[in-house]
Amino acid sequence: MEQQKQNQNTDKFKQLQEAIIAGNVPQLVLVMISYALDLRSSDIHIEPEKSTIRVRYRVDGVLRQIVEYPPNLHPAVVSRIKIMSNLKIDEQRIPQDGRTEVTTKDGREMDLRVSTLPTVNGEKVVMRIQDKTRKIPKIEDLGVRGNSLKYLKKALSFPNGIILTTGPTGSGKTTTLYAALQILNKIDVNILTIEDPVEIQINGLNQSQVHPDINYTFASGLRSALRQDPDIIMVGEIRDRETMDTAIEASLTGHLVFSTIHTNSAAETLTRIANMGVPPFLTASTLNLIISQRLVRKICPECKQEFKPNKVTMSAVKNALKNLHPDEPLDEKLKKDLIFYSGKGCDACGETGYKGRVGLFEIMLITDNIKNMILTDKTVTDIEKAALKEGMVSLEQSGIIQALLGNTSLEEVYRVAKSSDIALTFDKISAESSAAKIPQAKSSKKVEESTEDVKAEESVSQEPTPQTQESTPDIQTAPPAPAESATPVEPAPQIPETPVEPSPPAEPAPQQPPQAAPEQPPQDPQQDPQQPPQESPQQIDVENAMKPFTDIDNPSKT
Ligand SMILES: [Zn+2]
Repeated sequence: MEQQKQNQNTDKFKQLQEAIIAGNVPQLVLVMISYALDLRSSDIHIEPEKSTIRVRYRVDGVLRQIVEYPPNLHPAVVSRIKIMSNLKIDEQRIPQDGRTEVTTKDGREMDLRVSTLPTVNGEKVVMRIQDKTRKIPKIEDLGVRGNSLKYLKKALSFPNGIILTTGPTGSGKTTTLYAALQILNKIDVNILTIEDPVEIQINGLNQSQVHPDINYTFASGLRSALRQDPDIIMVGEIRDRETMDTAIEASLTGHLVFSTIHTNSAAETLTRIANMGVPPFLTASTLNLIISQRLVRKICPECKQEFKPNKVTMSAVKNALKNLHPDEPLDEKLKKDLIFYSGKGCDACGETGYKGRVGLFEIMLITDNIKNMILTDKTVTDIEKAALKEGMVSLEQSGIIQALLGNTSLEEVYRVAKSSDIALTFDKISAESSAAKIPQAKSSKKVEESTEDVKAEESVSQEPTPQTQESTPDIQTAPPAPAESATPVEPAPQIPETPVEPSPPAEPAPQQPPQAAPEQPPQDPQQDPQQPPQESPQQIDVENAMKPFTDIDNPSKT
């Protein structure tokens, strides 16, 4: 079976080369996509360079060189892809976005989001692949365990409030939200989502796709969703004050609200919210849970071997484990022996040593104590410390646990999580912003009144496991590149997305409860979208399409 898949991949590679040699463009495009699907890629990059066109796939979050073809084929390749995705073939001077669908032989529907960008050497094409029919993994299978799992389940049992996931683009935030919604997805609950794009269609959910070009945004969508008698609302991202206000309002009127937000840690999310101008009392009365997460690659089981970390790493590991909350379940022997692993590299993993991915999680439950700290303007550093003391597991600790369980390597952990040895510098939770005008809020009372509506079940029951069918063909090693453009392990260029319209100024909503802040801050049209803006009301949305969890078949042994 494995051997068969291996051969198939080899065949695909041969077909790709044959199509290039024959100059058969339709075949080239077809095989390029089909081979990418076989390798579980999330993106195909077709990049014109001075004297060649380079094709790379992103697999498990990392780019891998696949093949090159001569520039004289490129215009026909781009035209072919543009026709497939309804783009203008005669327009080569400006970026374009389009989409198309392909169906694999085994009947899986794949959504291809195509983006072109003029570069000095010609048009670059990126195709983002989404498996629309992929199953939603169980929350445990994503890598959530121990105290984090306990907190998450607790927050899901609350009838109202806000649950946020946070992390960089492609860190699996949306998948986590889907997995959480799946737990709540019952016949007697109305779940509405406002997404961009709708990544996976889930039975039982009312999923809506925003259209910023006609002013159907996250903010306006969320407002409309409230008129649809929902119990639970998921909004793709909170990136401006208006969406945040509406989420708060939805929470105060008895709804459970899920969303994502761009920050680096659970605690830092509090700073981000404060910087949006939300007064601490509203944050404290609505926020239930913050999930910060990263994806790390899983060690390839075929070539896994023991690995001795250096002294510096080892001391960081020991330090992090020393501060691990005693309640966090972890085998004492693992903690004592401190044995770590890495992948040597083999045919099965394309010599990378990795196959599939698992999440690292830092989940902060907004307990009464944390609420108080938010209300009394404690620093984010203090809040983070308090949360760790109560049982929160940091990203670093979560990574070390996954490494001790043999799921990932320490190298991967420290690629995405900072060491606790590094001093944390956080802003104070905003004194100025709390000075915003606060109309006497109908906060707590309103909450109590409205909790009637939704009675989420006391204990969060588990859905039957959607068994994720595994489709991980063995990976063909990238062929030796003719040019010396080897290392595929470099940071990916940002994928250009449709620029997001600046959101319109928040419309006055006289009848709505929390009209917390005075005005939208003036928007700076010059703002560089690449900067991680702390308080920019609009950001370029690069989170739209999240990379699929590619390997969730092999749950961590927890
Ligand atoms: Zn391997």
